[in-house]
Amino acid sequence: MRYAYWARTRIGRLLTVLLALLVYCLLLTVDGLRFFPQQIVDSSSLFTLWLRFGFSALAALLFLAVGTLVWLYARNRRVALFLFCFSCTMMITFAVETGAASNDSLLSVVGSISGVLSLSLFALLLLLFPKNYFSFGSSSHVVSGGELQSGQQYYSTLLLRGYVATLIFLSIIAELYSILRYLSPSQVPDWLDTVDSSYYVLALIGILITIIASYRRISSLRQRQQQRFFVSGVILAFVPLLLLTLLPLLLGFPEYSVDGQVTTITLGFLPLALGYTILRYQVLVFDMYIRRSVAWLIGSVGLVILGYGVFICGSLLFAHQPFAWVIFGLVAMGVLAPCVWILAKSITDRLFFTEMLHYQRLIEQPDALANETFDLNKASQLITLAAVNLFETQEVCLFVLDEDTGYYHPCPPLVEGENSHDEARCRLVQRLSQYTASAEAVQTGPSWIKGNAVIVRHVDSAPRPLLLSEAIRPDEELPRGLSRYLATTGPLDSRDPLLAPVRFQGKMIGMLVLGERGDHQQYAGPDFEALHLLFTRFSSVLQTACLYAQVNQHVTILDKLYSTNAVPIHDFETMDQAAMAYARIAADAVSCDASIWLYEEKEKRLRRFAFIGTGPRLVQQDVLTPSQEEDWLPWFYEGDSSQIWQGTSKGIPPCLPQASSFPFVWLPLNSGDQHLGLLILTYSRPHHFSREEQRVLGMFATQCVAALENVRMTLALRAAYERQKELDRLKDEFITTTSHELRTPLTAVQGYLELLASYHSTMEVSMLDNFLAKASRGCEELALMVGNITDASRVQVDVKTMTLNVISLSESVQHVLEIIEAGARREQRTIQAAIPADLFVVADKIRLRQILLNLLSNALKYSPTGSDIEIAVDMNEEEVTLRVRDYGLGIPLAEQERLFERFVRLERDMNSPARGAGLGLYISKQLVEAMGGRIWVESTGMPDEGSTFIFTLQRSTAQKPALVS
Ligand code: ADP
Repeated sequence: MRYAYWARTRIGRLLTVLLALLVYCLLLTVDGLRFFPQQIVDSSSLFTLWLRFGFSALAALLFLAVGTLVWLYARNRRVALFLFCFSCTMMITFAVETGAASNDSLLSVVGSISGVLSLSLFALLLLLFPKNYFSFGSSSHVVSGGELQSGQQYYSTLLLRGYVATLIFLSIIAELYSILRYLSPSQVPDWLDTVDSSYYVLALIGILITIIASYRRISSLRQRQQQRFFVSGVILAFVPLLLLTLLPLLLGFPEYSVDGQVTTITLGFLPLALGYTILRYQVLVFDMYIRRSVAWLIGSVGLVILGYGVFICGSLLFAHQPFAWVIFGLVAMGVLAPCVWILAKSITDRLFFTEMLHYQRLIEQPDALANETFDLNKASQLITLAAVNLFETQEVCLFVLDEDTGYYHPCPPLVEGENSHDEARCRLVQRLSQYTASAEAVQTGPSWIKGNAVIVRHVDSAPRPLLLSEAIRPDEELPRGLSRYLATTGPLDSRDPLLAPVRFQGKMIGMLVLGERGDHQQYAGPDFEALHLLFTRFSSVLQTACLYAQVNQHVTILDKLYSTNAVPIHDFETMDQAAMAYARIAADAVSCDASIWLYEEKEKRLRRFAFIGTGPRLVQQDVLTPSQEEDWLPWFYEGDSSQIWQGTSKGIPPCLPQASSFPFVWLPLNSGDQHLGLLILTYSRPHHFSREEQRVLGMFATQCVAALENVRMTLALRAAYERQKELDRLKDEFITTTSHELRTPLTAVQGYLELLASYHSTMEVSMLDNFLAKASRGCEELALMVGNITDASRVQVDVKTMTLNVISLSESVQHVLEIIEAGARREQRTIQAAIPADLFVVADKIRLRQILLNLLSNALKYSPTGSDIEIAVDMNEEEVTLRVRDYGLGIPLAEQERLFERFVRLERDMNSPARGAGLGLYISKQLVEAMGGRIWVESTGMPDEGSTFIFTLQRSTAQKPALVS
């Protein structure tokens, strides 16, 4: 199942390979059947026979294997076809080689035809690869002033076509010649022999010229590298034959010449070199392993040659001294072998893989070292520039992981706009964003890529960089098995961007996106190597820059959060203002929305005092009721994005009414065991809370607690101070008013007494009584006023010494009514009092009268003459509620609470004829509360609706004689 996708895409290729394999087996069987019986008759040793047969079979298999690999994986299909055909013809040639050598005419014909064919195919292959000479005709680019050049081109094309036509023509004749030579009983004409030889000469010269011409004309590093690899491969394959077999013969030591059959074994590397030369840039594969194996191979061959050389020298120098011979051999090998091994490695790099040396030079430029930096943008630029140099492309964009959001963002940021120099990068990012666009990216930036986007996941998990076309495939079509290291299926599209993960200590910290290479070729194995070198060199620079940026960001946040210290606490008038200021600091520092809630101890609930921001709110209502212990713990919620992070909370505080779709921080403001409030930060973009950030925010919360407590205390102190000032003012006012208030009745009393002193002898008795009564009322009024004043200062002492008895309420009311009766009658008032005679309360008799007198004289004072006054009573088992209602101007709602404080009078009554010291209600409140009751006022504040003063007393059910109302 895993390989189904792979097989489906290559079914045609697989069938062809199967066919070739069948042919191989068939030919080998036929060859074996013809070869062995004949040779056994010749009585050769069986071992030698098998060695010969095996060698041919192995060479054929090698060609078949290389052809198959290239046929299956090469992305340039034309080259793949030619190489496969070439490999097949070579395979056939070798498969029938032993049979043909033992003069089997049929096998000889097959071998000879395939040999002829393979030569022409090889010649044609070289015209296609590494440089494609047939693209002359189709290429449309004409160099400026190029009439001469196009003329040259015309002749070269003509020459090329002539060469190919002649080659094909001669090859057909050569094949005919082979058939006739082996099958025809008659003598073959001599001219045919000449044509056959000229075919070989033409093909070999053609091959040589193509190689030389290619080497001279090739401008691209890659094609030169391919050529070099192939030529070096061919030369090195012949080295053992030259050094071990031919050289001793030439030097006159035939006894030391190694059998050619052994030294030609390395010729088996020929197809491998050819196959790899083609596949190197066709297959996305890790180049490193192949470089290593080539180095090993060359090293081993070098050691064998060295060993043999040492053996010959030892034999020549110490022919009769075996001990010296052994010592010489050991010393020479000990000294020379490491040198040969190192030399082999250096030869491998210099002969075969010069491209890697070039890459290394580019990456390790001293410039880069000088420009190493802590700045994230500059570090990214460094990597981008190195990639630009390596691949000669302008389309390079580095995406760096933003730890805060979990998104990858282009670094340095894209400069968009019409005249931007960043066009190439913008184009590349745009191409990518077709596959990575997500709804949340709008909040971060359109070009940002989500950390768990399909592309990123695939790039992160793949063992090699992926092409974009591979990275966007569904999971089940991802490269598996061997194709995780080899990629071969995609079309030969050089514009397919390459995505490479930048890792540091195994973690992906960035993604390098490379657009089309400068030489318009597709990315391949050696490029991965170059990227590997690049990242090994620069990933630590990038990581350091990332960390530095992160630390900088935290420092900025810390700085901003510490600015709470600089907030002048004395400027706050209310807690609202303070909450607003701290919410603003938090929102500004963390770039999110912030709200501060304060805890109301009495109601046991949190109330929103401040909200800064424009984003969605975590809680719609303004009140929250925390009920569980968890509500008073910090919560860092990352929403959906938490899937990609470890160790983050997915739960929410229990008192939250609904789950959140966005990240938020829930920071209780606790001072010891005392709950002060709550700070909530909400993010409209994805956010990851690093441990450091959690710590910083926690510290800010602690600071907020201290600051808010300070503000609260300052406000309380200020209120107390204001109150004190108000009291001072009231006291001053009181002294002025009381002296004025006291003077009025005092002047009246004094006046009457002076009148009496002067005229009492001549005055009528009735007038005398009237004067005395008036003077006495004045004294009573004075007595009440003075009583109130003295009570105001010592009422609390009196409260302690109060004696509570069971007394009749109606009796007390009756007594007070009698005192004010005269005044009420004068003002034509009706006072209605309905109090059951058997209603008893627990109270101090005198004090109760004083309360009633205060309330009733207020009702008289502050309502117009002629209006009614009502006294009503309610009761239940425990208490009795008494109401004194008048129809005066009423009391504004805002003032009602204050009236029961010392010296407080309504503004409107300050300048009215109604006299008072602002003490009556205060004293009444103290007395009612001392007797275990409550007192308050009910009034709409509307004129003529009046006010009702209400107080409660404890009810007594004790039996007392009933009194008449
Ligand atoms: P005062 O000696 O000034 O009456 P109180 O403490 O008895 O002192 O009353 C305080 C203030 O409350 C009064 O000055 C008056 O402004 C207001 N007040 C008291 N009773 C009434 C009432 N029945 N109707 C309107 N205003 C009243």
